[in-house]
Amino acid sequence: MHSARLFEQARHAIPGGVNSPVRAFNGVGGTPRFIERADGAYLYDVDGKAYVDYIGSWGPMLLGHNHPLIKQAVLEAVERGLSYGAPTAIEVEMAETLQRLMPSMEMSRMVNSGTEATMSAIRLARGYTGRDKFIKFEGCYHGHADALLVKAGSGALTLGQPSSPGVPADFVKHTLTCTFNDLASVEAAFADYPIEIACVIVEPVAGNMNCIPPEPGFLEGLRALCDEYGALLILDEVMTGFRVGLQGAQGHYGIRPDLTTLGKIIGGGMPVGAFGGRREVMEYLAPVGPVYQAGTLSGNPVAMAAGLAMLKAIQQPGLYEALADKTRRIAEGLKQAAERHGIPLAITHVGGMFGFFFSREPSVSRFEQVTACDMSAFRRFYHLMLEQGVYLAPSAYEAGFVSLAHGDAEIEKTLHAADLAFAQLRNE
Ligand code: PMP
Repeated sequence: MHSARLFEQARHAIPGGVNSPVRAFNGVGGTPRFIERADGAYLYDVDGKAYVDYIGSWGPMLLGHNHPLIKQAVLEAVERGLSYGAPTAIEVEMAETLQRLMPSMEMSRMVNSGTEATMSAIRLARGYTGRDKFIKFEGCYHGHADALLVKAGSGALTLGQPSSPGVPADFVKHTLTCTFNDLASVEAAFADYPIEIACVIVEPVAGNMNCIPPEPGFLEGLRALCDEYGALLILDEVMTGFRVGLQGAQGHYGIRPDLTTLGKIIGGGMPVGAFGGRREVMEYLAPVGPVYQAGTLSGNPVAMAAGLAMLKAIQQPGLYEALADKTRRIAEGLKQAAERHGIPLAITHVGGMFGFFFSREPSVSRFEQVTACDMSAFRRFYHLMLEQGVYLAPSAYEAGFVSLAHGDAEIEKTLHAADLAFAQLRNE
């Protein structure tokens, strides 16, 4: 198997053989597939095997891989040079497009990854409010900046502890970790630190602990608490932006954040992130304001071309209804297949993202329920699906992503494979 040979080779030159840990299949064991090319709903590995892809490059590939409009825009941009380090018209067009599609983003700035976007948004919130602390939620991921690599202490309100060596405890002492979908934990944090909290950052649909939608009232409650205590609300829409709807999760749930972070889809597959929000807050950024933030390749013209082509394409009427319908069919189909074989499975889905949980609970909405799922059943199911050419995220803590390129044939293939996989699980 060429993938196995490449993985062996890679491990001598790249830590773990990968440039981002989850790709190493640590969550499921076995050999990661090395990918040679991708097209539409499919990935093709170096051994020539095709997979229906539910990772979509971890979110960006909303239209499917190798979309002709995005490819064309990139090729045309490349002809004009790869990077200038100077302002361009296409950056203005990008900022105006974000303004129009997500009205809370009165101003925005481009960066190169989701990590940069959240790190910069938090610095800005701290600079603007003159406060040091912020609240994040256990199970939410916002990239790998030091202050965000934090796990909760023994009680939800103890000071954060680094979740990685290399992050000094001093760097995370201002990070408070609360419980997703538990407003009382946030109320308690604000009550303890009424004038110290600069912002609350949250994934409006948590996509880094499988897929956990917000319970009714949770996001509204965060908005109200931020208003009450003078803190900013940052919706981290790196994953949900333009995936759960054309106005992101903020449009879907009707919540207006002070700041939004974006990534993934807005780069069309190129390395891009962005943060933006209220004009008054954004004008605290250099060069107009005192908060420093910068980037050599930020607003790169090739990346902007890819992102804008994507943002134009997704404005087609009916597109998000079609995406949500496909996603619902997949999630419900998985549940029905599991039921047929007596396997307890809970599902979630919002727009173009879904989750499934090997859990007996009728619904899963808290981090502790996610960690209590049957991980060995997940691993077994994962490999049974992979063998049948269905490429799911290799971790029980990641959401699934559907694209517009997933047609009836791909959905049927997926559900048929799931039926056989659940049957096999049942017999083991
Ligand atoms: N925020 C969220 C919600 C994410 O899902 C991710 C990455 N999966 C990030 C931030 C970090 O983005 P990046 O990997 O581009 O740094």
